[in-house]
Amino acid sequence: MFRHVPIKAVPAIRAELAAVGLGLEGADQSRDVRACTGGPVCSLALTPAQGLAYRLLEQPALVRNSGLRVSISGCPNSCAQHQIADLGLSGGTVTIGGISMLGYQIWLGGDLRANTLGQTVGRVAETDVAAITEAIVGVWEALRREGETLSGTVDRVGIEGFGAQINAVFEGRWEPGDEPAETTAPTPDGNGRRLAAAGVPTR
Ligand code: SF4
Repeated sequence: MFRHVPIKAVPAIRAELAAVGLGLEGADQSRDVRACTGGPVCSLALTPAQGLAYRLLEQPALVRNSGLRVSISGCPNSCAQHQIADLGLSGGTVTIGGISMLGYQIWLGGDLRANTLGQTVGRVAETDVAAITEAIVGVWEALRREGETLSGTVDRVGIEGFGAQINAVFEGRWEPGDEPAETTAPTPDGNGRRLAAAGVPTR
């Protein structure tokens, strides 16, 4: 056990330990990506949260920022508690450029340690989640002050200011702001009809 180690010295100590065969496998990778059971296990799922989580584990932006907490829910219910993650994703029908498709609402800045809940910054197609994760983390890396958490940066610049920065590097591939209510409200007859009405194949 090493006591009284300054946080800044941790990476160097890890490197020294790894050099003598005492490295912890995966210690420098993001492992704080959590997902609900999602599809195809949960009958309410709109998106396969587990598969996305598995892919995000290898995202370079998350690997170099292993303290970031990512939570993915496969539908607007919040079994993965996406509202209290640094980066939260809730699956559903999203509208990008006027076209309905399966995707995720993006929540930023949730942090119970700071008493903050995440706010929706926009939505993105399922196929673009990995790319926008890189963009979001890149914006945070550019804006953050020393030692500042993502929730701290969002709180300082505001969710709209942060969203504008994302838009500067991701324009046209996502949609800033909340999803219109009529495409996110649950229907009494289940998700299939809602998706079909939105033009999204359900099988
Ligand atoms: S968030 Fe939705 S998809 Fe995920 S386990 Fe809960 S109800 Fe199912």
